[in-house]
Amino acid sequence: MPVQPARIERDLNAFAQFGRSGPTAVTRLALTPEDRAARAHFIELCRAEGLEVRIDRFGNIAAVLGEWDRPALLMGSHLDSVPNAGRFDGVVGVVAALEVIRALKEDGQLPRVPVGVVNFTSEESSRWGRATLGSKALAGVIPEDELMAYADRDGITFGQALQENAGYDLVDGPRDFGPIAGFFEMHIEQGPELLYAEKPVGVVSHIAAPSRYKVFVKGTAAHSGATLMGRRKDGLVAASELVLGLERLAKEVGDAVVATATIFSVKPVSINVIPGEVELGVDIRGIEKESIGRVTDGFRKLVADVSARRGIEIEIETLSEEAPVTLDAGMVERLCQACEQKGIPYLRTVSRAGHDAMYVARIAPTAMLFVPSKDGLSHNPAEFTSLEEIALGTEVLAEAVRSFR
Ligand SMILES: [Zn+2]
Repeated sequence: MPVQPARIERDLNAFAQFGRSGPTAVTRLALTPEDRAARAHFIELCRAEGLEVRIDRFGNIAAVLGEWDRPALLMGSHLDSVPNAGRFDGVVGVVAALEVIRALKEDGQLPRVPVGVVNFTSEESSRWGRATLGSKALAGVIPEDELMAYADRDGITFGQALQENAGYDLVDGPRDFGPIAGFFEMHIEQGPELLYAEKPVGVVSHIAAPSRYKVFVKGTAAHSGATLMGRRKDGLVAASELVLGLERLAKEVGDAVVATATIFSVKPVSINVIPGEVELGVDIRGIEKESIGRVTDGFRKLVADVSARRGIEIEIETLSEEAPVTLDAGMVERLCQACEQKGIPYLRTVSRAGHDAMYVARIAPTAMLFVPSKDGLSHNPAEFTSLEEIALGTEVLAEAVRSFR
């Protein structure tokens, strides 16, 4: 069998050592010494297979087999992690891509286009508060000077971290890798839909994009005994209406949208004080503009209503409003065909988490493949996908790449 689970296992175990922070935990934030070690190991693996390695100015690493003189068909994902992460998020896509290249080489079924693997810089938002930095930069979505100036909690900018921990001199790095013939990202599902459907792989046709807001409820802190109910401007009660209202709005539009109230910090924190100020985060995601709009418009109306009725000022700050992504129909079809050819049952599904594929989709035909996440868990040391499941996904990916013959 050309796809060899033993090699996949070896690579997964090797990457799990970089930033290991518990028996099954990994903490490998982007462009830290731990990430640098993982990146160096990735380059070593690529060179061992005779791939030509190129690194762009944002630290994205692509490695291609054979003559890279034409647009390459790329596969891959990311090697950085959130704090106290599992061992699979991102890494599975990079390791599977490497194994596909080995398998194709061995069975002599290389496609007509050059084929390669890519690791995107800083996919997770843990360090700079914004996700998918490398793929956004590659797609020209963030201006380079703005990206380089993003500062982490310690004031270290993306640009500085790149200089210190990308591990290479990137000053003369190329702006991008030139035209890309296509991109496949294999990733763990990070949710439970494959488990519910009892399918071993998922072919992703759309990626939901998050809209994120901060809401500041500006009530008045007051004595919890001396203030009659009718005279209060209780920020916590007002914020609670918003939390429940958001849930109701999302449920009304069905499975097309998910909405979550987060953060929820209350001031002051005291048992005998009516809470004044409440800050909450709002994260709304969907795959259709129209239903996302219904939830966000409904939420804005609710905020205006609660504010007027309770006489409390409520401010909404927009952090991001991203558009959902429809992946390339031809690339999606190649993944479906690959499943059919191999007799592997698959679920046509959508991704509710963000991925590098969202931005690569702007510059190249792109599709995604999901493998199951045990209990739907991710961003957690309990994150788990079995070697058999990863190997099966890798088989599908290899077959889809073979279809470019
Ligand atoms: Zn990921």
